Amino acid sequence: MDTRYFNAVKQPEAGTKLGGSVIRSGGLVAFPTETVYGLGANGLDGEAVNKIFEAKGRPNDNPLILHIAKKSDLKDLWKSVPERARLLMDEFWPGPLTMVYLKSSRVPEEVTGGLDTVAVRMPIRAAGVPIAAPSANLSGKPSPTTADHVKADMDGRIDVIIDGGPCNIGVESTVVSLMGGAVTILRPGGITREMLEAVIGPVNLSPAVLAPLKQGEAAASPGMKYKHYAPDAQVIVGTGSLPDMAAKLIAEYDRREAEGLTCIIFATEETRCFYRGKRYVIIGERKNPLTLCESLFAQFRAQEGKADVILCEALPETDMGLAYMNRLLRSAGFKTI
Ligand code: AMP
Ligand code: MG
Repeated sequence: MDTRYFNAVKQPEAGTKLGGSVIRSGGLVAFPTETVYGLGANGLDGEAVNKIFEAKGRPNDNPLILHIAKKSDLKDLWKSVPERARLLMDEFWPGPLTMVYLKSSRVPEEVTGGLDTVAVRMPIRAAGVPIAAPSANLSGKPSPTTADHVKADMDGRIDVIIDGGPCNIGVESTVVSLMGGAVTILRPGGITREMLEAVIGPVNLSPAVLAPLKQGEAAASPGMKYKHYAPDAQVIVGTGSLPDMAAKLIAEYDRREAEGLTCIIFATEETRCFYRGKRYVIIGERKNPLTLCESLFAQFRAQEGKADVILCEALPETDMGLAYMNRLLRSAGFKTI
């Protein structure tokens, strides 16, 4: 298949129009959102949705998020709309919050991987029909935050790539489940636990957010079962107080380099002083974890073919630090030192 590339940086409306028409005719379109690039198909057309799984090599039981253009679209996709959903969407939509609840009969099972719930969000950009869309990367790879990343993974596999420039947040939406009368974070993102709790009171955190699933344990969200966000290099996360953490990363660096491997440290503005004489790149500021989220996946991709080992710093698991640690730990296969 020939993949058409459309530069929509200066003409976003034309990009939306083209994307909408290809999606309505059953095609696949990669498009920018405020989080990462999405790979979209008509969410009410099971056949079109199946093409997403093929293009990404994604397991069929890992369900997709439906993206809607206006709040009133939600009632057609869910069996009912619980009050806590109204409170959350009035505060956070449009924006990077996905909510999971009982699906209506209109939603094809291809979208939900056979589950009786469906995940819905309303991104900042308007959609048209409900668009089923995961991130526009090959399954298992880091999510794309630029059109070039999408091209690297998807050229020849999809109909259109719409280039709207780099994404702002750089990590996928927050996913919450509204099942069981509660609000439970399945995946942390741009809408933080603290922001949710200010609106709705205490919010649960699924144990799988920061730890691997134990053998035989059921995943609260099917996506948690799978290897995720992984670059080609091995990722290792240093923990502890700043000087301790830096010392551990440097010791690991020296050990691996002695084995003939090429290492790089993902440093921060605050910690660069520790790594003099080593290969490092500054990926953001610890005091502003959003900067680290924005660049993490792009920095992983930039190291492809260059580094064998990527040494990263842990952050406190509060505010955007929670989303950062969730992605980082999964990229590292939970390997910490
Ligand atoms: P992705 O589309 O790859 O950004 O991931 C979407 C995430 O939402 C995955 O981790 C899915 O497993 C999760 N998700 C989607 N639908 C549901 C659902 N009905 N129940 C639980 N998790 C869901
Ligand atoms: Mg993804």
